[in-house]
Amino acid sequence: MKLHNLKDNTQQVSFVEAVKTGLGREQGVFFPIKLEKIESSFSEGIDALLDLDFVSRSSIILSHLIGDELPKDTVAQMVKNAFNFDVKLVEVEDNVHCLELFHGPTLAFKDFGGRFMAECLATFNKEGKTTILTATSGDTGAAVAHAFYKKENIDVVILYPKGKVSLAQQKLFTTLGENIHCYAIDGCFDDCQAMVKQAFLDNELKESLGLNSANSINISRLVAQVCYYFEAIAQLPKEKRAKAHISVPSGNFGNVCAAMIGSVIGLPVNKLSATTNQNDTVPRFITNKEWAPVDTKESLSNAMDVSRPNNWARVQTMLDNNWFSYDNFYSQTVDEAQTQVVMKEVYKKGYIAEPHTAIAYEGLKRDMADDGVGIFLSTAHPAKFKESVEDILNIELDMPQPLADALAKPCLAQDLENDYQALREAVLAKLA
Ligand SMILES: *Cc1c(COP(=O)(O)O)cnc(C)c1O
Repeated sequence: MKLHNLKDNTQQVSFVEAVKTGLGREQGVFFPIKLEKIESSFSEGIDALLDLDFVSRSSIILSHLIGDELPKDTVAQMVKNAFNFDVKLVEVEDNVHCLELFHGPTLAFKDFGGRFMAECLATFNKEGKTTILTATSGDTGAAVAHAFYKKENIDVVILYPKGKVSLAQQKLFTTLGENIHCYAIDGCFDDCQAMVKQAFLDNELKESLGLNSANSINISRLVAQVCYYFEAIAQLPKEKRAKAHISVPSGNFGNVCAAMIGSVIGLPVNKLSATTNQNDTVPRFITNKEWAPVDTKESLSNAMDVSRPNNWARVQTMLDNNWFSYDNFYSQTVDEAQTQVVMKEVYKKGYIAEPHTAIAYEGLKRDMADDGVGIFLSTAHPAKFKESVEDILNIELDMPQPLADALAKPCLAQDLENDYQALREAVLAKLA
């Protein structure tokens, strides 16, 4: 896979280099220069591909995307290690299906990208020290922490906005200790993300720690996520596949970017909705073509509290190149009151949706054609948002075991002001 920096297309890198460096010059993200149809490497065609099991099919998709940089059997082993849990498609009402992506160890879809990225770094960085620096709006932290926990020669530094993630989300990463170092930043997710970007411009820090990022900036996470969109379509009855409309709850726009990559390489995706909470920079951009981020607002769907989505540049590149048509791309916003109304509405249909999932459902219902076949993504297990789900639906949730265990342990995070120098000193003192 040949990639270029979307801010400076003279910087061109291989997949391995893009994974190892994370972010390009001028804080530009890397993106494939070209995306080939999957038939060019899998001549049996899409239907035959969809007939395969999830792990075999995912190995083929990832080998196709990555190209001959990595041997096929290496990729197959990485996929097998990373994707060791289920993906389920559940019919919630006629022609409306929920893609449950929360059956991994930290109960959110971030496990797919986090675990595959960990496999990549373990394969590429056989020697030398690596420090994974990542900002989390709630779920990336846990996925990355669990994927790298106790891995030799790897430290993980996680920044999260203090008091702005749910207790369950937070405890899943701040209670681990060992090689997982957590900082509660006095700010919002965009502040944490800005500190990570600044650290990557700090050559001295970068060198002494062997810095790498595990944010959805990292291309390894995105390519991993492409695989479950194929699984979603594979689980639909054959006659419905051509009409699929996929709705993705969006914050940093990595997940919907992966769906679009899937479509570009040949997955039948008729329409795509990327629905946001009240942090609506992209919906406003789609309406009036003006990029005007405003301050981030705290929401029930906190993992989407992002007003400067890093992956939008990638999505926009595909749209501007007409690899995916603007006519088939929708981006709307669902506010806080509507989120609660929708959670209740979905509950009446016999399904429990946490706030992010409810937003995806609502986006789908607004945008879907009468004869469409809808798939909305459930990006987190309801128990991860226990407080708001129980409160809004007036129910009591069972705690899955990994969550109950984490909740019982003390938080080991350190408080830090929203200041890059403070972070730099703290991290150097601990890890250099
Ligand atoms: C991260 C996250 C999202 C948003 O995904 P993006 O790829 O950042 O758009 C949605 N829901 C949940 C539960 C998340 O953790």
